[in-house]
Amino acid sequence: MTKKIPTRLYLSEDEIPRFWYNLRADMKEKPDPILHPGTLQPASAEDLEAVFCKEPVKQELNDTERLIPIPEGIREFYTAYRPAPLIRAYFLEKALGTPAEIYYKHEGTNTSGSHKLNSAAAQAFYAKEEGLASLTTETGAGQWGTAMSMAAGFYGLDLTVYMVKVSSEQKPYRKALMETYGARLIPSPSDTTEAGRKILEKDPNTGGSLGCAISEAVETAVKTAKCRYVLGSVLNHVLLHQSIIGQETKAALDRFDIKPDIIIGCAGGGSNLGGLIAPFMGEKLAGKSDIRFIAVEPASCPSFTRGRYAYDFGDTAKTTPLIRMYTLGSGFIPSANHAGGLRYHGMNSVLSKLYRGGFLEARAEVQTDVFDAAVKFAKIEGILPAPESSHAIKVAIDEALECKRTGEKKVILFGLTGTGYFDLSAYISYNAKTMGDHIPTDEELERGFATIPDIPQNK
Ligand SMILES: *Cc1c(COP(=O)(O)O)cnc(C)c1O
Repeated sequence: MTKKIPTRLYLSEDEIPRFWYNLRADMKEKPDPILHPGTLQPASAEDLEAVFCKEPVKQELNDTERLIPIPEGIREFYTAYRPAPLIRAYFLEKALGTPAEIYYKHEGTNTSGSHKLNSAAAQAFYAKEEGLASLTTETGAGQWGTAMSMAAGFYGLDLTVYMVKVSSEQKPYRKALMETYGARLIPSPSDTTEAGRKILEKDPNTGGSLGCAISEAVETAVKTAKCRYVLGSVLNHVLLHQSIIGQETKAALDRFDIKPDIIIGCAGGGSNLGGLIAPFMGEKLAGKSDIRFIAVEPASCPSFTRGRYAYDFGDTAKTTPLIRMYTLGSGFIPSANHAGGLRYHGMNSVLSKLYRGGFLEARAEVQTDVFDAAVKFAKIEGILPAPESSHAIKVAIDEALECKRTGEKKVILFGLTGTGYFDLSAYISYNAKTMGDHIPTDEELERGFATIPDIPQNK
């Protein structure tokens, strides 16, 4: 077979983008402002700086500047693992017998194992520049905590990670990795914070949740001198940092004059999807293309497909600013599943606005179907995917099979956000056929919705 397009569409180190692309600048309808939870007025930079680092706060509130320079100190770190490979899935196309072309951007080649390092590096760099000594954060499945540990280690900052308790018990290797890079790990809920003690009092046997770990990390950051809190998804500045994924992808595709018809990504808080689609969505909003964008979420945590569009808190203890987004309610605790990175009640406000405006579609998939796709992909393409990424694989395969049915030769692109090396317990469960699916009932969702704040903006 002579290939017009190589299996790996390489970019050189020099082609690592020099700017992040801020999609908000090209949105006619901007996402709604973040609100201060006390005054219900738009949060000021000052409000947010009590919790977050200064430069990311500026980026968070910046709805107008299209291109934001990537400091050399961050680009330098990026050269350790970027540009990330963009791969033509020739094997998968052949195995499916589809006329479609399939491409995936592989963000799982760095040691932390996912795209999250892109924002971790940026946030640690800015914290160091600002003169901070330490950072706090939370981690669910462990990917963000690992990424932050690597970045904090590189830039010389102390890091405390509140790790959801069940997850810290299930994933000793994640813990070891974070500690190797110098982070301090605390299973959450813990007795080191008021938020943690309150939750433990109510439910001493709780396995914890991401929302609860966020509350603990924020509380510690606010109470500690020269310390701030960093978050790995949901917020606009995280999406901004992840735009590097989409820009690299677009540069490599443009080189071969490849125009995607469908772009698919898994969606937890929305950062990888928002980053992957950013430059392509910019073109769509400008009327220059008609790409379909599909967000894939777990059926067990269906923020887009069954959530409400409302102002909500980012954490269980209701301490964060209010974000207008698709949400299941900050009190919604998704059932245990193996895609920890997708178990978040809300969704980034930019993506929420785009979904509301009909620019983005969403699908929910059950975990056993997702793992069927993951194992198929591993056998055919050779790469073991993270459970989160496998949500995108599932829908990419469905779309490729639809092309087979209709004979259409579409170009399908999806984000392979991470490696499955740290999720072998999930694969053990799949192989042993003990994996189940939980789809929340309407009653369960109602209990979550009841925790959405009852404020005039939500009427
Ligand atoms: C965290 C994570 C996700 C989901 O987070 P987003 O912010 O929605 O991108 C997806 N895949 C992997 C591998 C992750 O670690």
